[in-house]
Amino acid sequence: MSTLKAVRGTRDLLPPETSLWNRIEATARAIFARYNFGEIRTPIFEDTSLFARGVGEETDIVSKEMYTFTPADDVGRGLRGEGCARSRHGGDSEKSQSLTLRPENTAGVVRAYIEHKLGETGQLQKLYYIGPQFRRERPQKGRYRQFFQVGAEVIGPPSAGSESPLRDAEVLEMLATLLDELGITGWTLELNSVGAPADRARYNETLRAALVPVVGQMCEDCQRRAITNPLRVLDCKVPEDQPIIATLPVIADSLDEESKKHFAAVTAALDAAGVPYNRNHRLVRGLDYYTRTTFEFTHGGLGAQNALLGGGRYDGLSEAIGGPKAPGIGFAMGEDRLVLTLQALDQKAAPPQVDAYIAPLGESVNAAALALARELRRAGLRVELGDGSFRLKKSFEAADKTARRIVILGEDELQSGILTVKDFATGVQSKVPRAELVNFLKQ
Ligand code: AMP
Repeated sequence: MSTLKAVRGTRDLLPPETSLWNRIEATARAIFARYNFGEIRTPIFEDTSLFARGVGEETDIVSKEMYTFTPADDVGRGLRGEGCARSRHGGDSEKSQSLTLRPENTAGVVRAYIEHKLGETGQLQKLYYIGPQFRRERPQKGRYRQFFQVGAEVIGPPSAGSESPLRDAEVLEMLATLLDELGITGWTLELNSVGAPADRARYNETLRAALVPVVGQMCEDCQRRAITNPLRVLDCKVPEDQPIIATLPVIADSLDEESKKHFAAVTAALDAAGVPYNRNHRLVRGLDYYTRTTFEFTHGGLGAQNALLGGGRYDGLSEAIGGPKAPGIGFAMGEDRLVLTLQALDQKAAPPQVDAYIAPLGESVNAAALALARELRRAGLRVELGDGSFRLKKSFEAADKTARRIVILGEDELQSGILTVKDFATGVQSKVPRAELVNFLKQ
């Protein structure tokens, strides 16, 4: 029988690497708390139309990369029991409902904002999430089919100040702080404005016209994009196309006065806070819902997939999915890529040191050894518990690999209440009364 493996593009995360993941999440949660964000958890799958309408049918994500299924398919693939149960609950409408594993989380957050009428509070909503996302992309280093994002959104009615450029600058300043506190040195903030939808439409037409004489020399994808969505030509990575792209008009020249003013206010606040950035005219991002500010933080240590995180403003998204006017700005950080960057910066996750390894001498003291381990662990110590069937030599070898000290527990120690403790670093062996053991091990 062939052995089963994790599906292509997915992977297992194992210790000690998971301690890096935990550190990233703990640091992110601590920073989000300081900036007064609360956590939101949305479902892993949603109605397909949420992404079609929210992210945009023409985007790569929606047109090529989504994991979409319908409950009727499940029945066809053999989940017959569930099928019966479902028909009992009368889910005929459910049968035709197309569902999709979330490829990103902003659309889900905005759906929840609308569903729970969060706008009616009149307050700005500051929400963060941490969780897996799914895209059927070609897997490579830093690009997976199940990957994890840490993201946040600031969204609310215009009366709550949700359109203010100060919100954009504050989010960017928070991200700079988060990367600094994670120890990710050498990041670059790429910043642009894609303007209002009308500006974008105007720019798209300007680009379309500018592409006519040159597109014949470009790659096939660009030839298609030049017709369907010229803006996407700017995402092209084909080296031969780059000199042509460099001569195309920039979106900054198509922005209306309001969008120009908005962007100038964002950069002025970043300058005042001392957050460095690069104006990148080509940064139009792969999701259709962006308006005005768009950004990416990149890192040289990542290779081809160099975006640590991306985000921007999405002033029309709520309305696009049937909600009230609710401008917002948000970002998503690739947690997988943060881990890769930390590893490239040589912040390897070392296995944690175990404070004590308890070695029971004989199976008759196994039960007493568990009681001792419970006592030490409840006092906050990290403890490994051996087994009485092991010979003393095997216990010493196992302990030496993981723990600072070995605690020997035999019948004699149980009777006398005096335990033998050996410190592997110093080689010193001590006799320690049981009542003093916790303090001794904490030193
Ligand atoms: P996006 O939602 O496309 O704006 O992506 C935001 C961030 O998520 C990117 O900057 C990456 O760090 C991360 N990301 C996106 N797609 C993937 C993927 N397939 N594998 C790993 N990380 C990803």
